[in-house]
Amino acid sequence: MSAHDDDHAHGAELSETQLRVRALETILTEKGYVDPAALDRIVEAYETRIGPHIGARVVARAWVDAGFKRQLMENAAEAIIAAGLADRVGDHLIAVENTERTHNMVVCTLCSCYPWDVLGLPPTWYKAAPYRSRAVIDPRGVLADFGVTLPDDTEIRVWDSTAETRFIVVPMQPSGTDGWSEAQLATLVTRDCMVGTGLPTPDAKAQR
Ligand code: FE
Repeated sequence: MSAHDDDHAHGAELSETQLRVRALETILTEKGYVDPAALDRIVEAYETRIGPHIGARVVARAWVDAGFKRQLMENAAEAIIAAGLADRVGDHLIAVENTERTHNMVVCTLCSCYPWDVLGLPPTWYKAAPYRSRAVIDPRGVLADFGVTLPDDTEIRVWDSTAETRFIVVPMQPSGTDGWSEAQLATLVTRDCMVGTGLPTPDAKAQR
């Protein structure tokens, strides 16, 4: 595409990061290290096929299948692949479970590390400085901004993602959902539930 195909793609208007990414891709392509068509397919997969519905199925399976849950807590990547719930889980993924006593919340204080393979593209707020700094200093305040209020005696554990280690929160199954099918339960599990900034409720879908 030439710069004139798109009003917003003029070279001078690209950000520093976009310019650097473009330069890297050009060099890697010229040297034959990457295939631009393959890169396009990867980007497309994350934009269209890979998203929080994958993580939601993982959580719902854990709620209905104690054996799977045990495996998930032991080695999340292995359990998810073995159950056929994702095509790939490339990062060292750790599942952390919410209980009455402990609520888990995930942040990347350094940049924006995120479990892409199970949650898809990260939301903008996850990558923003206010969330990254406040999640550690004032987790209760951040949760309040998300409309989540926990009992005072619930401990909040904040997990700092890194390039090597990513986290997925397994929320508590909401009361009143006993006997629901795995597919029904999965509809309650939003992306925010699995980052720890939301809770599954039977009307969670209506909130977003
Ligand atoms: Fe990061």
